[in-house]
Amino acid sequence: MENESRSVCLSRLRKTCLACAKCSIGGCDIDGCISNVFSNMNMKANVVVVGQNPGATEIQRGLPFVGPSGLFFDNALKQVLGVGRELFYVTNVVKCFSPGNRSPHDQEIQNCRYILDEEIRVLKPNLIITLGGPSLKAIAGLSGISKIHGQIVSSLRYSVPVLPMWHPSPLNMNSQEKRLQFFEDLLKVKSYLG
Ligand code: URA
Repeated sequence: MENESRSVCLSRLRKTCLACAKCSIGGCDIDGCISNVFSNMNMKANVVVVGQNPGATEIQRGLPFVGPSGLFFDNALKQVLGVGRELFYVTNVVKCFSPGNRSPHDQEIQNCRYILDEEIRVLKPNLIITLGGPSLKAIAGLSGISKIHGQIVSSLRYSVPVLPMWHPSPLNMNSQEKRLQFFEDLLKVKSYLG
């Protein structure tokens, strides 16, 4: 798909996403910020990064992965691949903040699916990186991230190779083992960047 039509499709989808109130967590006012966050709209990217759902910093800035997890991710990209996030389309399985930052419910994942499906249909990426177990489950239908992180698996739903990685949350990345695995797994992305 040409960049221009990608841009039209994603701009339309962004509008739909920001107006979505299919679940009780959609369209909420959280301290003056809307609970819905779309992607970084980086439509030229060949690699799509999918997290779980936005946190407090993300809803304040209206962008995915701009809090502590996102900062860790950006630094890891620089250190390991020598690139910035402009090469990646960054999004989440669930587009809305959940109360107390709890994990999204299955129904919320299902309700949000139409947006993720459309993002991937429009972008046709070379690779999807899943950050964390819930994202791996939603994209590739697989569990057991501690065994399969860093191994390319396939997503039947999207017909795109998938690289499962740990979620770069401070809780995970405080573990030296997971942090080293995260860096090592990131090396696998190199050949997909184009
Ligand atoms: N964690 C996520 O999974 N997504 C974000 O956008 C931020 C933190």
